[in-house]
Amino acid sequence: MAKITIQNLTKQFGSLVAVDDFNLTIDDGEFITLVGPSGCGKTTTLRCVAGLESTTSGQVMFGDHDVTDYPVQQRGIALLFQDIALYPHMTVQDNMAYPLKLEGQSKEQRYERVREAAEMLQIADQLDKHPSELSGGQQQRVALGRSIVREPAMFLFDEPMSDLDAKLKHELRPLFAEVTEKVGCPTMYVTHDQEEAMTMSDRIAVMNDGELEQVGPPEEVYDEPTSSFVGEFIGRPNMEFFDAGIEQHNGTMDLTIGDAVYQVETSEALTQYAGGNVRIGIRPQDISIADDPDEGVTGEHVFDETLGDQTHSLFDTPLGRITVVTPPRFRGNGKQYGLQFDTGAIKTFDPKSGLRID
Ligand code: ATP
Repeated sequence: MAKITIQNLTKQFGSLVAVDDFNLTIDDGEFITLVGPSGCGKTTTLRCVAGLESTTSGQVMFGDHDVTDYPVQQRGIALLFQDIALYPHMTVQDNMAYPLKLEGQSKEQRYERVREAAEMLQIADQLDKHPSELSGGQQQRVALGRSIVREPAMFLFDEPMSDLDAKLKHELRPLFAEVTEKVGCPTMYVTHDQEEAMTMSDRIAVMNDGELEQVGPPEEVYDEPTSSFVGEFIGRPNMEFFDAGIEQHNGTMDLTIGDAVYQVETSEALTQYAGGNVRIGIRPQDISIADDPDEGVTGEHVFDETLGDQTHSLFDTPLGRITVVTPPRFRGNGKQYGLQFDTGAIKTFDPKSGLRID
């Protein structure tokens, strides 16, 4: 097993650039999730790494081997898709053992390997059943088992849980992470579900329109988005964005957002925007409410989404509708409140490019 290096990968379909100069290294044992909206190029990237799609330019290296022109069968990878595709006439044991049978391993060797994998996946008591007798979650465990018996060079997962319900996803997420860690090869996992990306990955790679926008550990991508696109895509409820005027004032910068003025620390980068405008982003978790409507941005309470451990409350303001994470039992009762932004949590972005300023 060795690290995977993707260098300057570009894939075009006619004039459409689906993947644009993509660079990423996945270390041995590392779990990286490609995340982004529909059509941003995640699946195409994965298919190029798998060898299911030819590349227009660029290289895919497994360790020191350039595998760019290898067909999928020669890459020794484990592939798992949303479509589970088990053989219906075979038992779970035979489904899982099938790749080893193709390799010519003896029955004893095959079944020994399958037993180990089945125990890891907690399906050891299901080995004599047929796929139709299993739940969707169990079937996906069998498919995962079939992919790990061969000790792959790499795991490539394309939305393997998108057909499963929320409870099953919750059960399977730690299992995917645990099993891939035990096997120890690099993993590339594709999803459009940012929650899946946040909870399973060592690093998240956020894609936008064919390009890699940001790569980093989940908490870094969440805390320090390098663009408004990433800030909006990662984290729920969504980051709120506003246009703000910016003025330099002694040692600080004044950000004017609607009627409210917030002072933030000055920086060299931010100074360039003084006298103009910036786009600011703030997470609903970093907005608090005051009973006095004049403290901060005035907001009329509209609705509370009660989630048990927290409440997401909606307010209509002169800046538009704003979501605030309010205390668990909060009830706004349609009154007016002051919405206060935690100045330390405000992120500033270039109004044109969306790139992070500070
Ligand atoms: P989703 O989450 O919806 O699967 P994605 O991020 O995986 O989206 P891709 O499937 O990689 O996106 O598609 C990227 C772009 O390439 C899209 O515009 C898509 O229409 C286009 N595309 C993908 N495959 C082909 C193909 N075989 N021929 C032509 N265009 C394609």
